Amino acid sequence: MLFDEPEFQALLLLHGRDRRKIGTEQELRDLPKVREMVKNKIEIEKETIASAQIELREFETKANTFANLIASIETKISQQKTKQLKVKRQEEYQALENEIKGLQEQMNADEDEQLETLMKEDDARATLLIAEGKHTDRVHSLETELEELNDREKVLQEEIIELEKQIKTSGEEMEPSFLREYERVKKVVRRPPYVVPVEDQKCTGCNLRVSNDIVSSILVEEKLTICDQCGRIVYIAR
Ligand SMILES: [Zn+2]
Repeated sequence: MLFDEPEFQALLLLHGRDRRKIGTEQELRDLPKVREMVKNKIEIEKETIASAQIELREFETKANTFANLIASIETKISQQKTKQLKVKRQEEYQALENEIKGLQEQMNADEDEQLETLMKEDDARATLLIAEGKHTDRVHSLETELEELNDREKVLQEEIIELEKQIKTSGEEMEPSFLREYERVKKVVRRPPYVVPVEDQKCTGCNLRVSNDIVSSILVEEKLTICDQCGRIVYIAR
């Protein structure tokens, strides 16, 4: 039967090579998109680390400000205490006493806020450490992925060149009438597959039932047959 004939096997071989080439070209076309996606992911990871660093720095600055503030109040208090030792009048002494009390209260409040800020600073540092560990691994694996995509591009380009050679050879070795029919079907169908088996009297290209005439054309007349529904070349493999 036709399926076993070398000219039909040559057609199947050409079809297989064509499909591989179409798939490879598609993957190559999609590569820049995939590469962009990976690059975006790397950027997002880096931004996450950067924002954790900014948060930590903000708390560090705030904690520093409180430390300076507290130090200057302390200086002021000791200055006023020294003055207090020298004053003679009770009113002056009391005025300084009040001022010192006010400064103490201010210092206590600042110390509370400083403590709170230091705790937040510790949290932010811990968060950054975790983020750096996790994200560094992630960025590393994404960068590896990017390198692999570059290698893949070369492999795909080489594959396409090799397939083009094979397709050319296939075409030269094929029965010319089969080749013409195949090229015609490719234009009509537009999307692979172009050559499909019939199974349970259904064309596996369009999944529709083929007529008895089609089956008889394949099996009895042993002709190169076209699905009357989708226009693909159909065959029955046994
Ligand atoms: Zn069909």
